[in-house]
Amino acid sequence: MIRIARRLFRVPLHWVALTLLASMPVLAGAPFSFDAAPGRLPKDVVPLDYTVAITPDVDALAFSGVETVRVRVRARVRRLVFNSLNETLDDVRLDGQPAATVASDDSQQLTTVTLSRPAAPGVHTLRFRYRGKVETQPHGLFVQHYTTHAGANALLLSTKMESTDARRMFPCWDEPAFRATFQLIVTVPVDWNTVSNMPVSKRVVHEPTATTTFERSPRMPSYLVEFTGGELAKINALIGRTELGVWAIRGREQDGRTALANAQQILRDYNDYFAYPYPLPKLDSIAVPGGFTGAMENWGAITYNDQLLLIHALSTIQDRQTVFAVQAHEMAHQWNGDLVTMGWWDDLWLNESFASWRGAKETDLRNPDWKWLELQDGSKERAMRSDARVASHPIQQHVADELQAANAFDDITYNKGEAVLRMLEAFLGPDVFRDGIRRYIKAHAFSNATATDLWNALSAASGRDVGKIAADWTEQVGFPLVTVSASCAAAGERTVTLIQRRFLLHGADTSTAHWNVPLRVRSGAAGAPQALLLTADGQRSRAGQCGEALSVNADALGFYRVAYDPATLAANARSFSVLPDGDKIALLDDEWALVLSEHEELAAYLSLATSMGEDSDTRAWTQIAAALGTIEYAERGAAAHDAFAAFARSVIRPMADRLGWDTKDGETPDVQQLRRTLLANLGTWGDAGVRREAQQRYNAFVKDRSAIKPDDQLLVLSIVAQYADAATFDQLHAIAQSENDDTAQRRYYLALMNVRDPALARQAAQIALSQEIPPQSEDSRLQLVLQLGYYHPLLSWTTTTENIDRLLAPYPKYAPLITAQMPEAFWDSVPLGQLEAWVRGRLPAEMSAQIERGLETARARLREKELLVREAGAYLAAPPRT
Ligand SMILES: [Zn+2]
Repeated sequence: MIRIARRLFRVPLHWVALTLLASMPVLAGAPFSFDAAPGRLPKDVVPLDYTVAITPDVDALAFSGVETVRVRVRARVRRLVFNSLNETLDDVRLDGQPAATVASDDSQQLTTVTLSRPAAPGVHTLRFRYRGKVETQPHGLFVQHYTTHAGANALLLSTKMESTDARRMFPCWDEPAFRATFQLIVTVPVDWNTVSNMPVSKRVVHEPTATTTFERSPRMPSYLVEFTGGELAKINALIGRTELGVWAIRGREQDGRTALANAQQILRDYNDYFAYPYPLPKLDSIAVPGGFTGAMENWGAITYNDQLLLIHALSTIQDRQTVFAVQAHEMAHQWNGDLVTMGWWDDLWLNESFASWRGAKETDLRNPDWKWLELQDGSKERAMRSDARVASHPIQQHVADELQAANAFDDITYNKGEAVLRMLEAFLGPDVFRDGIRRYIKAHAFSNATATDLWNALSAASGRDVGKIAADWTEQVGFPLVTVSASCAAAGERTVTLIQRRFLLHGADTSTAHWNVPLRVRSGAAGAPQALLLTADGQRSRAGQCGEALSVNADALGFYRVAYDPATLAANARSFSVLPDGDKIALLDDEWALVLSEHEELAAYLSLATSMGEDSDTRAWTQIAAALGTIEYAERGAAAHDAFAAFARSVIRPMADRLGWDTKDGETPDVQQLRRTLLANLGTWGDAGVRREAQQRYNAFVKDRSAIKPDDQLLVLSIVAQYADAATFDQLHAIAQSENDDTAQRRYYLALMNVRDPALARQAAQIALSQEIPPQSEDSRLQLVLQLGYYHPLLSWTTTTENIDRLLAPYPKYAPLITAQMPEAFWDSVPLGQLEAWVRGRLPAEMSAQIERGLETARARLREKELLVREAGAYLAAPPRT
């Protein structure tokens, strides 16, 4: 699954400081075994095959069902225990014999069937009728309302099961180790099309409904079951024996052409990479208008929020990038997640880190001019910020129940895991790594696995004890700061002494944590990096010549920080403009983190940030713009604000001037993105020329909507909105209101939320809550209200807290985790005590670890604000002589 953070909180202009963010030790180091796999259900009865027939009644928000489950009884039992939620079971029989009692307990999400006489070991058939609920939030079987281009109200049905919501649609053994085959039979209106994991085997029309029977699935976990039904149409293509389809609302299916072309490419590449051909007869991608925000890797039937799958004339290059990257992530899950599934939710990272890593590699491979892997440094940095908290947690974390399973979908699981896999791949070499992955997939196909199984496969492929290195990163919280001290021999040969300790942004680490750190060392500004495994404290190594640049995190592939001694740092600063981009990025990231953690003065960071010269590397400049933007934000209301804003403008303006406003021939998408990033920041920092140009472009846009290409619309409209008076605000509002394309309309509403005028901002808050937002864009309300906080922290807080249930309704699974993270967004809106009381009042005590993480970030932000104001003041008072 792609979690919501990717989309929801990626605000293109102003990163809202709310990133999706558990901690008993996990039992380390055992291969998968069904009997040893954690879980709540007894393992004496195992499902083999389900036949589930349902007939939804959307008006009544209910459905009726008949379910038959062939089960293997492993030891004589008197009771069958399985999951159910909001369901009533009737006429429950085992092998035709009525059960003695049936008790469903929604508080435990369990049904217990007590048999009239014990069942002997062997295969038995459980059969019952039942009634359940059609959900209005995206979990289980849910109804999704939407407004068509023509303005009509319409609806469809879809499903979202992960982690523990299949039980809302059919009673089942709803844990990932209980693999079984599934056959779905659904009766819906005759003019609907229906999609599930497998192709349709039979359709019987009996007006006004039709009953569709789907082919039986391979053995898989319940959380991958899918059904969508509605007024849908598809386009398709054949790759080998696999039929690829893209489904959308009828009339929109041609907007799936880009996604279909992407899917063809990705399927070919993955068939090759995994050396295990995609095993199902078809693979559909389904664009659900609205629903949950993100995408879900149901085997053979991936569901997407339509904004993450459909591309048309009003889409931007960023939309195209997101579509490819999300497809590459979800399709990677078809192998890692679906074909091979984690044994239990404590290894969720095996699914998610893997799909994130594989998806990013594929996106980069097929779109080299996007510089996609380099841009992943941004998500790695967010994970490092999360993991530099005292209250962070290891990648592998204990999961005892449904709430903890849902809370595992955080930055550490996705982004730290992705970065650690990339670090291991670089260390072992990509070919050896791929060989290990192939062994892993082949050995565990149609089954489950643990992290140990993956490490064993990689060890067999590499001849190294991979588990020993990897465990430091997956079972241990945090990451190290590697301190480099150089000494020089008479002939100028440099020797470095390396020391490590846990890096914390704030607070002292008192643990004895220790990592095997796969370093990549480059001496000088060119040359291939050398692999060096840091195992012992005080380890010494030869490292080129004194006076030349040195990176011990070459190409920024490591998940660790580096602090160089003053002489080495000075050598790096002198050579900065000619360093490889990856080494520049690593230095900028580290120095900024060292400033925030009070290891370095701001001047040390700024001396690098002002030395980019003519290098137009997008990630490096984005890092610089974000750091300057953080300081500008901290300075608001302070005496030195305008002086700092002028300084910040002077740092980025030469590059912005070089790039200009218009795309040049042959310019790659990353440079185009850099232009927008720089102009957006200049606009925010009060650059008169940028404001003027944006206004002129906007004036042309008002007369002719094609005057600004979609890629630049958010940039221009956001700058105009920031400085808008009432008339301009009304005009921007009317533009958003009259737009009937969801993609463009979301963009226009988001721009509107940047308004600075307080009275207009209150109007913007009302708009974000109003019925003019169509039902399929319901998920965008939270993003809109959070964006308001960039200029109006208190208004954003009151609007969010007064409407919290409604804003979180599109995110039923993530609502507790998002709530725990609210202090990260509202650290400067209200006093900490008020924030804490609000969060604790809304969450169970079981979530105290998540709550503490959010509060720790809020405290850190307050401290950093004070620090940055002080340091920036000192810097401006006495800038370094150049
Ligand atoms: Zn995923």
